[in-house]
Amino acid sequence: MSQNTPTREQDLIRVADALCQRGLLFRGAHANLSARADDRVLITRGGSVAKLRTEDLAWLPLSTQDRHEDFDANYREIINMHTKLYQHRNDVGAIIHCHPAHVAAFAVAHQPIPAVYEPLLRQGIHTDVPVVAWAPRGSEASVNGIIDAFSAPETVAVLLANHGVLVTGADIENALDRLTALEETAELVLHAHALGGAKPLPEAAYHEVAERMQQYRKAS
Ligand SMILES: [Zn+2]
Repeated sequence: MSQNTPTREQDLIRVADALCQRGLLFRGAHANLSARADDRVLITRGGSVAKLRTEDLAWLPLSTQDRHEDFDANYREIINMHTKLYQHRNDVGAIIHCHPAHVAAFAVAHQPIPAVYEPLLRQGIHTDVPVVAWAPRGSEASVNGIIDAFSAPETVAVLLANHGVLVTGADIENALDRLTALEETAELVLHAHALGGAKPLPEAAYHEVAERMQQYRKAS
């Protein structure tokens, strides 16, 4: 156990609570969260993350499937979805999967979420968030679809058709911030539909925002 283990667990519990408080979970509070620490991953064990406790979390080795046998077959599929993505993308430090109401509406409509809201850009999302074709949750076809979408280095989140969303971050707080911006965008785009539809940002917006953020970091 590394020294920072308790902190990692507290981080995940704090973010699970924030998902509830920010209205980022649908009524069943279904979600799974994980965070990478070197060659291990800390992951939630159950379907609901309401009132998450330390005993609802488990540490798993990233490199082998051997020690995943403590979990039932259903849950091993969720573990697979997380561990395969960590193995595929070294820059991913944390993953949140859940069903926020507005984001999930885009997922059931097979509509990508357009990057039309400035806070999304500030979270590093500057292209439409794509939809991964439906396949049973955690199946090889579903996981392969996710991995394919994440082969594009700019992909940090995907919609799972007829299901929900999977968002990554450098750490679990970063994944939460991205998810928050994504749900805000989905809600606003649906409202904008009644007003004639959302309008795209100027072509250069991403670079302008990135430049300003860099200047701000230098100044702070
Ligand atoms: Zn789900």
